[in-house]
Amino acid sequence: MARYTGPVCKLCRREGEKLFLKGERCLSPKCPFERERGYPPGEHGRLARFRRRRPSDYSRQLREKQKARRIYGVLERQFRRYFREAERRPGLTGENLLTLLESRLDNVVYRLGFADSRAQARQLVQHGHFVVNGRRTNIPSYIVRPQDTITVREGSRKRKYFKERAERLDEGAVPDWLSLDAEAMTARVLRVPAREDIDTRLNEQLIVEYYSR
Ligand code: SF4
Repeated sequence: MARYTGPVCKLCRREGEKLFLKGERCLSPKCPFERERGYPPGEHGRLARFRRRRPSDYSRQLREKQKARRIYGVLERQFRRYFREAERRPGLTGENLLTLLESRLDNVVYRLGFADSRAQARQLVQHGHFVVNGRRTNIPSYIVRPQDTITVREGSRKRKYFKERAERLDEGAVPDWLSLDAEAMTARVLRVPAREDIDTRLNEQLIVEYYSR
């Protein structure tokens, strides 16, 4: 599945806020957003703040949709597919959309603390380090369901990366809809994530409005 391969920090500057796409670096003084004080990217980025006008409704809706895509690392076509699926499901479309994004395997691996960022989690999944319900799964967009078991593959546990990770795993930091046995490097999906379980700062209603135009 295709993914964005351009400069990552530029995306934060474009959205005008930190999207935390690079793990630990985002919390360090090396974060370019801090250094560049969040100027939009591009030659005229620094001047943009003098020209800033009140954004239109369309602009706010578009930016929110782009922000969600960038946070979860999903390209437009797939994001639109998630939206259509969210519309089909009973309940609020915006919440259904966030639930779908949050249930992606790469996001779950990130939430469990096996990776510092969703991008890193995506790579770990693609390299086949995880087993879902006893089957090796290397599809980052796999949607987990309640009672699914996610575990680090037996062969991967011996790797230095996972040995070091095991010491840093924190069962208490895992969201309520997941449970983690850090020693066994195994997690279980307890239920479908609800809106209050998702701490991502997004206004899903604006995304719904964007696709409903
Ligand atoms: Fe965004 Fe992280 Fe880059 Fe800072 S370091 S600009 S938060 S991706």
